[in-house]
Amino acid sequence: MATAEHDHEHDHDHDHDHDAAVDVVVDAPATQEEAREAAEREARKRMALAQIRQYGDPVLRMRAAEVEVFDEELPRIAERMIGLMHDADGIGLAATQVGILRRFFVFHDGESDRVLVNPVLAQASSKTEVDDEGCLSLGAVRVDVERPIGITIEGSDASGAPVSLELDGLLARVVQHELDHLDGVLIVDRADPESRRQALRQLRPRLLLSR
Ligand SMILES: [Zn+2]
Repeated sequence: MATAEHDHEHDHDHDHDHDAAVDVVVDAPATQEEAREAAEREARKRMALAQIRQYGDPVLRMRAAEVEVFDEELPRIAERMIGLMHDADGIGLAATQVGILRRFFVFHDGESDRVLVNPVLAQASSKTEVDDEGCLSLGAVRVDVERPIGITIEGSDASGAPVSLELDGLLARVVQHELDHLDGVLIVDRADPESRRQALRQLRPRLLLSR
């Protein structure tokens, strides 16, 4: 997931982060050093996105299977995903998006990086909210998605220890978005018909190019 709301203000390295979306105004870099850093960030982002499955890839439509074995491989994959997520300016990334059909995802909770394995939505508020979402697998597409405001999600961490999280606002939205990925569900499926049509029009040229 890549949302423009991602708050980077406490993260100096990412001070000038931005989505690659068309509506971004990029400040002219003040110094050559800043220009070089911006170019490096952009290159890292492109490399990360090249490793993330993009719309049209059938794997994004598949249901991931429960993690049954907690070995040393899982934390290693999760660390790699956390790196990709940050490089790509995202705040969440599901295993499905890197072609691994196992039920886990990573996300940034505003302070630290987290891994949630075999996540289950234990509770969801009846009150919902509509907000726009982007996705690291859907390029610059952003659509309004209605979701419960507050949730309790249960699962385990990368070592298999049980985890229960009560989340609201943006974080509740992020984990619901990532949980959807594990079931092969994308934000375009949750958009209203007109937004969905627009999004698919935006995505179609990518499909042709990727053939
Ligand atoms: Zn996504």
